[in-house]
Amino acid sequence: MPHRAASARMLRVSTPAVPAHLLPADGRFGSGPAKVRPEALASLAGPGAAVMGTSHRQAPVRQLVGRVRRGLAELYALPEDHEVVLANGGSTQFWDVATFSLVQRRSAHAAFGEFSAKFARAAARAPHLDEPVVTEVAPGSAAVPGAVPGVDAYAWAHNETSTGACAPVQRVEGADEGALVLVDGTSAAGGMPLDVTQTDAYYFAPQKSLGSDGGLWLAFLSPAAVERAERLTTTRWIPESLDLSVAIANSRADQTLNTPAIATLWLLADQLDWLAGHGGLDFAVGRSRESASIIYSWADAHPLVTPMVAEEFRSPVVATLDLDASVDATQVAAVLRASGVLDTEPYRKLGRNQLRVALFPTIDPEDVRALTRCVDWVLEQLAG
Ligand SMILES: *Cc1c(COP(=O)(O)O)cnc(C)c1O
Repeated sequence: MPHRAASARMLRVSTPAVPAHLLPADGRFGSGPAKVRPEALASLAGPGAAVMGTSHRQAPVRQLVGRVRRGLAELYALPEDHEVVLANGGSTQFWDVATFSLVQRRSAHAAFGEFSAKFARAAARAPHLDEPVVTEVAPGSAAVPGAVPGVDAYAWAHNETSTGACAPVQRVEGADEGALVLVDGTSAAGGMPLDVTQTDAYYFAPQKSLGSDGGLWLAFLSPAAVERAERLTTTRWIPESLDLSVAIANSRADQTLNTPAIATLWLLADQLDWLAGHGGLDFAVGRSRESASIIYSWADAHPLVTPMVAEEFRSPVVATLDLDASVDATQVAAVLRASGVLDTEPYRKLGRNQLRVALFPTIDPEDVRALTRCVDWVLEQLAG
């Protein structure tokens, strides 16, 4: 791995380096942006090079958009009446899209970490919406919003990437007729099982479980979500780039309103081919589950390591591991980083003595096993 050799050379003399024989083959454990398979990058530099720098209004790029839309529909066995819609701006942009095009008057949110809380804040700030109902639970736990009369959209995250806690994806019992379910699948999509019929908008970005780069949002929309978006655009002013009905119309033509990130589309299409070639979503889910079982059983047995999230909410795609107060997680992550094992730092605003490790399907379970050996080694060095 060239990046490992390069960072090893930058070591300060006082920083211990993890012995080479313990290191993973690939040292990328970030929870987003996350590992991109080297084969996907080679494919971008190879056949992908022919579409880079060419018009997104012409057939080659539109075919690429079509490949991505079909590949995602196949991965999730999407019902006939659901559609795959995409546009620029990542999942953060989708929250703004939703406050204009999916929430009619009032939303309800479960907030159990940074990302689920951010959507609630976006809705709270929107002057055309009523104050949202927010159910907040402590980081490390998860919740779904309960039914509230008058609420027309319910929102939560499938996997809260900042904490590694998952919530079930299911319709809200007792909700008003026609209320929509909007689920943030940013880090879950491509790595966790899903019954898409329980949602009206399941949205995500491709730089996490889907092993691509950032810049786009994608969403599975139900007919009810499409109907809502097409109605709201006739009743309120919506900036064009935030108007979901515009994104729907463009996506149906395998286009985007403005220039998309073509490399991101290419890497995503490659990942979808890779998953399909190995058995689809079951394969992806199995890879992450295997990594999760490796890291959680190691942590459960380690005297200095405790998973932050209780078993019932524990994520199969992002593990958060609290370290004993006698060791400084910042130091552990720094030694790992200096050895080429990257991005094990916790989510910055969580402020815990913790390591966070992505278990996305692109990451080899054997590398997760190697990571546990690296952490064992670092903990021994720091204790000694
Ligand atoms: C990363 C992430 C986001 C933000 O995605 P961007 O594409 O950076 O806007 C939103 N929600 C969840 C759950 C995430 O993991």
